[in-house]
This record gives sequence, structure tokens and C-alpha cells, in this order.
Amino acid sequence: MKEVVVLGAGYAGLKTVVLLQKKLKNNIHITLVNRNSYHYEATDLHETAAGTQSASRISYPISDVINPQITTFIQDEVVKIDSEKKTVKLAGHEELLHYDYCVLGLGFVSETFGIPGAKENAFPITNVKEALAIYDHIIAKMKDYRTSHNPEDLHIIICGGGFTGIELAGALVDARPSYAKIAGVSPNEIKITIIEASTRLMPMFSEDLADYGVNLVKNLGVQLLDGSRISKIEPGKVSYRHADEEEQSMTAGTIIWTTGVSGNPLMEECGFNAKRGRVLVTDHLTDPQHDDIYIIGDVAAVMPPDGKRPYPTTAQIALAMADYTAEDIVSRIKTGKHEEKPFTYKSLGTVASVGNTHGFGEAMGHELRGYLASVMKKIIADRSLMETGGIKELLSKGRFDLYH
Ligand code: FAD
Repeated sequence: MKEVVVLGAGYAGLKTVVLLQKKLKNNIHITLVNRNSYHYEATDLHETAAGTQSASRISYPISDVINPQITTFIQDEVVKIDSEKKTVKLAGHEELLHYDYCVLGLGFVSETFGIPGAKENAFPITNVKEALAIYDHIIAKMKDYRTSHNPEDLHIIICGGGFTGIELAGALVDARPSYAKIAGVSPNEIKITIIEASTRLMPMFSEDLADYGVNLVKNLGVQLLDGSRISKIEPGKVSYRHADEEEQSMTAGTIIWTTGVSGNPLMEECGFNAKRGRVLVTDHLTDPQHDDIYIIGDVAAVMPPDGKRPYPTTAQIALAMADYTAEDIVSRIKTGKHEEKPFTYKSLGTVASVGNTHGFGEAMGHELRGYLASVMKKIIADRSLMETGGIKELLSKGRFDLYH
């Protein structure tokens, strides 16, 4: 009997477990560890932060997809992986976990690039608790406005105009009427500003498509300060510098940080050869120093054949890595050998939502704009929900509101 320990029940970890349960009914026991009892669709966090989707709509209990005859689920915090002794230490359990194969899918954390005050004075958006904290804060500010009449309470600043920043701005626009009702103002008094260092936003898209997306957001009333490098954040205040100009600042009741993410810092802490929490993995997605450890999802860096820069970390590649990892573990348990073919990846495309009914992106070689893009985004999300959560989660959490 082989013991497989899977750490993290995000896109990468949970799909690996679900596939292993289907492919191997004997000769395997899986232990899955995750800090929460639920899996969440991290790609929808911006909607929970804005309040357009509840936390329960973007998450489901891990127990729903666990086969208890094969898998033991432990809700706990991973604190140490000892790759020499092949053990894992958890915060709340005395006993160490022992493994034959370990799958690390510990995901991403917010990256502040050392900008003073970013950690202390801006809200990150990397998990459900943080998304809910943003929502609660926005609502509290809207309530404050009723007595303060301070326009700052109505102002939301998004630091970073990347994929997450743009999607968050779209969701906040959708939520604006409900905020306005709470504050007792008209929706256009709720101000949303994106501050972004680059002048070429969304570089993964053609210039034409990226311009379309940026104009979409601007036309919805979002103020975009591009070419503006954030220098510090103080309570309720963001300072930035536009080109060579003097430092300027802007005040707001809510400041949200979306400038970037890195892999889980536990990777470095446990002695893996990681850069910003990411390990450059082998062709079989294993740690170059430890063939029994798979490193997948946002903690992995995978080099494309051109060998220039690793693929961007996305849910899509995390799911593809889970597919490969499950196949490879099955092959090793059955034949003692790795899969013959190395891991390869072909992106199916990327679509950014701008609220519930707008979007832009490209899929299968076609550029998509507007409503059609937003439909494609929902189809992509539903597919992932179906593949890991199965029909039950698809029916209860899927996005069937395509015809708004
Ligand atoms: P995660 O989804 O982060 O899962 C990691 C899991 O590990 C979590 O459940 C976490 O609780 C658990 N964990 C972490 N540390 C510990 C510990 N010490 N002990 C126990 N458990 C632990 N990607 C796309 O492809 N398309 C998109 O449209 C898209 N949109 C996005 C929008 C937003 C707002 C954000 C924030 C991200 C978006 N992404 C998108 C990126 C995508 O969400 C990530 O690439 C993906 O979640 C990575 O999956 P993962 O399984 O590696 O990690």
C-alpha cells in the first residue's frame, strides 16, 4: 500500500486527489491536508470581495468529493515538510505524516514587493477570509458615510491594474448600486480608482484587445491612473509617483492590494530551492532534488519549451498539472516508472470578466469581447467545477446565469 500525502486543497491538490481516487481503488491511501474544511474557487474571489457572489457560492465542503475508503482528510495547517525523512508536520497534530509520494499544492500569497505600508494598510485578496474582510470593510465605510458625509468613505482604491485588479474593478462596478443604497447616495458618487505602474496593461493580450478591456472598465466609470508607481501606503492614503513628477497621494476609505502574488513562503522555509515561493520543477513536475515530491500549481515554476520565462501561474495550468501528477503517480505505483511523456501545457486561453455581463480575452485562438467573453468565462469556470467537484457542485454552484 502506497501512502500519498497531498498538501493543499486548491485547484492543484484537490483535483489530484479526485483523479487518484478514480484511477486507483487499491494499493493506495491518500491523506489530504488543508487549512480549511472547504475548497474555494480562487478565480472568483474578487466577486466575494465586492459582494456580488457569496462565499458559499464560490466554495464547497472538501468532504463532498472525498472517498473515505481511500482518502483521509485532515483540516490543519502544514508547518514543515522534511524531504529527507519524508515526513510532514502539522500545527495541530503531534504525530508526523509519513509519505511515499508527497504532492505540494500550497498555492499563492500576496506579494507586496517591499512597498512600505502595503502589508499593514491595504487589504490583500488571496483567500475567502480576506475577500470577506474587504466586503465587510466596504459596507462599514458605506454605513459610516451616512453620519460622516466624508466622500473618502465612498472611495475604493485598487492598487494594481493586472488581471485581478481589472476583474475586481468590474465586480465593484456591478456592486455600486447596492453600496450607494447603504450610503444613501447615487451610484456615481461611489468612486473606484485603479493605480497601476505600467502604461501597457494586460500584456498577455494584443494591444488592441488590452485597450478594449481598459476602455471597457473606464467607460463603466472607473478612474485609471496608469504609469503611476506606488511608493507607500499609509492608513487611508496611497502615495505614488507619475513618471518624473513629484510624489502625489490619494485618500480612500478602502484600499485593496492586487499588484501580484508569489508562491507559498513555506517552500523556502522548508529548504526547497524556491524563488518567490516557486520551485523550478522537472519534466515530471517533481522537485529536482526529491523525485518523490510533486510540486504543482502556484508553488511550481514550469519552463515552456522556449525556456525563456516560466508559464504564468494560473488555475488553468494548476489543473493541468493535477491531471499529469495523478497519471504519473498511477504509473509509478503500477509499473515503478514515470510516465513516458513529460508534462506539456497548452493554454486554452485567458478571459477576464468585467462584472457579470462584460469581459474580454482570447480562447482557442479567437479574441472575445463583451458579453460573449463573459459567457466564455462562465463556461470555463463551470468546466473546472465539474471536473473537480462533480455534478453536485456544478448544479449547486455553477454559473448558469448566461442570459442576463
Ligand atoms: P490555491 O488555489 O491557492 O490553493 C492552495 C490551497 O492550499 C488553499 O486551499 C489553501 O488554504 C491551502 N494552504 C495554503 N497554505 C497552507 C498550509 N500551510 N497548510 C494547509 N493548507 C494550506 N487563474 C486563472 O487561470 N484564470 C482566472 O481567471 C483567474 N482569476 C483570478 C482572480 C483572482 C481574484 C485571483 C486571486 C486569482 C486568479 N487566478 C486565475 C489565479 C488562480 O486562482 C491561481 O493560479 C490558482 O488558485 C492556483 O491554484 P493552486 O491549487 O496552486 O493554489
